[in-house]
Amino acid sequence: MRIKAARLCRAGRGRYAGGKQGEARVRLTEEQEALRARAAALADGLVRSRAAEVDASRAYPWDIVEALKAEGFMGMTIPEAHGGQGRSWLDAVLVIEQMARACTVTARIVVEANMGAISTVMAYGTEEQKRLAAGLVLAGDKPAICITEPDAGSDAGGMTTRADRRGNRWVVNGRKHWITGGGVSRLHLILARAFDEDGTELGVGGFLAVRGEDEGLKIVRRETTMGLCGMPEAELAFEEMQVTPDRVLMPPGGFRRGFAELINAYNSQRVGAGTVAMGIAQGALEHAVSWAKSREQFGRPIGEFQGLQWMLADMQVQLTA
Ligand SMILES: Cc1cc2nc3c(=O)[nH]c(=O)nc-3n(C[C@H](O)[C@H](O)[C@H](O)COP(=O)(O)OP(=O)(O)OC[C@H]3O[C@@H](n4cnc5c(N)ncnc54)[C@H](O)[C@@H]3O)c2cc1C
Repeated sequence: MRIKAARLCRAGRGRYAGGKQGEARVRLTEEQEALRARAAALADGLVRSRAAEVDASRAYPWDIVEALKAEGFMGMTIPEAHGGQGRSWLDAVLVIEQMARACTVTARIVVEANMGAISTVMAYGTEEQKRLAAGLVLAGDKPAICITEPDAGSDAGGMTTRADRRGNRWVVNGRKHWITGGGVSRLHLILARAFDEDGTELGVGGFLAVRGEDEGLKIVRRETTMGLCGMPEAELAFEEMQVTPDRVLMPPGGFRRGFAELINAYNSQRVGAGTVAMGIAQGALEHAVSWAKSREQFGRPIGEFQGLQWMLADMQVQLTA
């Protein structure tokens, strides 16, 4: 296996095995090979058998979440002290890649049950916040991270969702959209501008809310997507949502450094998103090769025609580049 992101090697338990011209190679341990094989078995079994139906029905696959839980793939990066397995991102990447070969929705569930909001809470949270987040994820939750707004996309710093300190609580008002898992996720990490009681702007904070427990978190509507159809992408509204101080995620440097630190929540999630793309490409190549072997035209399998072989070879080259 060849991975260009050298950071993954450092973060992982796999051995860095050299490489030339800026390329890093990771030699997987026997245990990681076994983990990957276990993930492939689930992906090629239940997950693949359900993928088309998940897409057509647009229904979040709770049965697959149960299977992921049974295999220990939900919250595998959560430290052992909090009930997880303390696995590395590389371990999570191995599982995500296999799931993405068969079903993108399943792959996204594994991404967000191991990276993104959960890793941010585990990095910056208080003991109580870590217990809350770990408990939810290990029970099958895929947390949602709420940054993007109708008028703040690439320019996430332009967000207008605000949290006002009122006595011993925070009151959140605003809108977020394109929130992956909106309507199925329980834990929400919401980035908002924080204001003191006298109206002074303090910076950006992370506010934790649990759907079903915290009033004021509303699912406005679900987007219609071309792919990933079993995963809801939703618009959320926060209307006078009350957050107690123990649910404020405070990174080092406080609110002043809040945006810079919390936006990092996206970095780990992007490792996952890149892995999903790689897994999809792997799955597409496998499907194309299989079709090229079975489809016959002009009296022979189309894979015997050189034009197709070139295309398949190009796909393989791009995948391993
Ligand atoms: C499937 C999906 C899932 C998502 N999940 C989440 C989620 O869980 N949580 C969340 O908070 N957000 C989520 N998002 C939102 C995502 O982070 C935003 O879509 C992204 O930040 C881009 O914002 P935008 O869509 O408003 O595009 P815009 O910011 O409007 O950008 C439109 C285009 O302009 C380009 N552009 C913008 N600024 C510049 C510039 N300065 N220079 C050059 N080009 C520029 C962009 O590259 C893009 O091509 C999701 C989006 C999608 C599609």
